[in-house]
Amino acid sequence: MRATRAVIHLDYLRDNITLVREKTGVSVCVPVKAGAYGHGALRVAGAALAAGARYLAVATVAEGEELREGGISAPILLLSVPMPEEIPRIIGAGLEALAGDAEYIDALAEAARKAHRGVALHLKVDTGMGRIGCRPEEAGKLAARIADHGLFLAGTATHLAVSDSTAEEDRAFTTLQLDRFRTALDGIRALGIDPGIVHAANTGAVTFHKDAWFDMVRPGILLYGYAPPDGEGKPSLAVKPLMELESRIVFIKKVKKGESVSYGRIWSAPEDTFVGTIAAGYADGIPRLASGRWEVYVDSAEQGSLRPLVGRVCMDQCMVDLGPSPVASRWDRVVIFGGPAPDAGALASRAGTIPYEICCNINKRVPRVYSG
Ligand SMILES: *Cc1c(COP(=O)(O)O)cnc(C)c1O
Repeated sequence: MRATRAVIHLDYLRDNITLVREKTGVSVCVPVKAGAYGHGALRVAGAALAAGARYLAVATVAEGEELREGGISAPILLLSVPMPEEIPRIIGAGLEALAGDAEYIDALAEAARKAHRGVALHLKVDTGMGRIGCRPEEAGKLAARIADHGLFLAGTATHLAVSDSTAEEDRAFTTLQLDRFRTALDGIRALGIDPGIVHAANTGAVTFHKDAWFDMVRPGILLYGYAPPDGEGKPSLAVKPLMELESRIVFIKKVKKGESVSYGRIWSAPEDTFVGTIAAGYADGIPRLASGRWEVYVDSAEQGSLRPLVGRVCMDQCMVDLGPSPVASRWDRVVIFGGPAPDAGALASRAGTIPYEICCNINKRVPRVYSG
């Protein structure tokens, strides 16, 4: 196996799911879209269900099919709108569609009829995210349309735009979204239709908005181990990051004072030092914007320590300053984030992004190694 690998702690996923179940007391839907945010969809799905998750959620039909082919029989919610030609595959794979418009609902009904099968769907209400879904006042009409087609309304859902923010204005917007959602639910119930499983809460709503929990929560990044900061900047829930990105020092050289390292020559040695080359770069998922702004954990036999990345991060390699009298040696393990190094959330802040993007960007060529 190559030097660079992502270690995924599935035992932490179990702990995080348990924490969310205990906190909310409702069912959990685990978003495993984008390869479970880079952690590997099938393994994460299996561990999530074993830990008591009720639903899985994907973004594409192919992601849902991959889970079915891997033997997953739990309910899978398709969060995004597919192309019309993909709709028969939703029926084929037994995915539950999240629909918020008549055209999609009618197309699902048509495909189900042709396949002589049923399809369960969740009505998506747009309460202020502005992405997909019907207006709150249209919810009743669409629920009736679903019923008229003889389709099963398994749930009713909305998505929150700023639930992870503790700013007053944002908290007020979430309250407004939830008010609109309740109006939509009233509209459905007024017609004598059962809205099914009611769900709205993403990560921020699990930690900050109790009134958004309803029957089921859908936190993604929280279950992968990153909680939004509370008003004091501390993590809002004690979840543990699942992912640790590690590599090896594959080369060490002495660099004399004033000599530069890597593209663009943005770094020159301030004094004679030893520089190690790590077998991972931005093509593996280390953000190039972390160049000169990050410290990695060098796991030397004698003494592990955090050492600065120096020079530009390259596509397949990056460099670490080991100091003038290093204890590190060639082939030593280096942890780029997670575990003994600061986590992907800290790296994201340094690189001007969010932990979602750091985890999703861990490239396919990086093998995942599962522990726990
Ligand atoms: C991705 C997604 C989630 C999970 O979001 P997090 O911010 O990771 O908690 C929940 N619901 C929908 C509709 C999503 O697309």
